[in-house]
Amino acid sequence: MAPRALGGRAPARGTGPAIDRPAAMPQATAMRTAPRLLLNTPDIELWPGGLLRARSNHDARLLSRARTVLRRKRDGRYLAALLPEGLMPMVERLAREPGIDAALQRLETALPRCGPPAETQLPLDRLDERLQRLGLDHHYAADSGLPRVAEPACLHFAGLDRYRRALWLTRGAARAWHNLRAAAAADGIALDAISGYRSHDYQLGIFERKLARGQRVAEILSVNAAPGYSEHHGGNALDIGTPGEPPAEESFERTAAFAWLQAHAGGFGFHMSYPRGNPHGIVYEPWHWRFGGTPA
Ligand SMILES: [Zn+2]
Repeated sequence: MAPRALGGRAPARGTGPAIDRPAAMPQATAMRTAPRLLLNTPDIELWPGGLLRARSNHDARLLSRARTVLRRKRDGRYLAALLPEGLMPMVERLAREPGIDAALQRLETALPRCGPPAETQLPLDRLDERLQRLGLDHHYAADSGLPRVAEPACLHFAGLDRYRRALWLTRGAARAWHNLRAAAAADGIALDAISGYRSHDYQLGIFERKLARGQRVAEILSVNAAPGYSEHHGGNALDIGTPGEPPAEESFERTAAFAWLQAHAGGFGFHMSYPRGNPHGIVYEPWHWRFGGTPA
């Protein structure tokens, strides 16, 4: 493996899309006050410290001090923690981890910012290989009529979801969700997030676990979109619930929360992606809303 270049293409700190940063957030204090960001590379996510659960005492000691945690997208495995004194591997043979070079380069050049340009998306070029592994070819796209959805290179922390996990969305969707939720609360309606951004690899992991349990691909596709075809990959889609209601059930449409969303969500830029009789032939999903989507 070639040694990583230090310098060369790496932009100096302080260059880049400074105009993206609000004036109230001076660069010098960015480490403490900047929005929390998930920096996304094809195989590995870079998480800001303080948001991941420890799975062992060893993990806990590292995670409590980590500024950044490198996490394998496929299975969520923690790969390394960036501590004040340097990078601490959390797996054997970190240097041989697929995608580690891209992740380390991102770590050096982008923190604590998205890295230019902020709204970049990751390439889709490896998706075919993933789909072939599942036995899916281009017919899937034609049959489902679903577009491929690229992953953003950077996602913004949008609070915690119902399960106390970090919720990641694009910057615009994160802001809109914050405002939507606050407006609902002011009207006495509690909204919670069930699920936001999900990576292609995460979706592939769902398929692999279900296949290992003996399900067939066709069966899984009746419930889960193929990797690369879920709106959740783009960071603008959100599954919304309300406390006391089961997640992602059609019964959500009979709640006061759903009635409120129908009346007000459009004003915040959210639209239901899959209403009854939608042209995609996708099952009715009253819980699934997309920021920036067009009214269906
Ligand atoms: Zn959804």
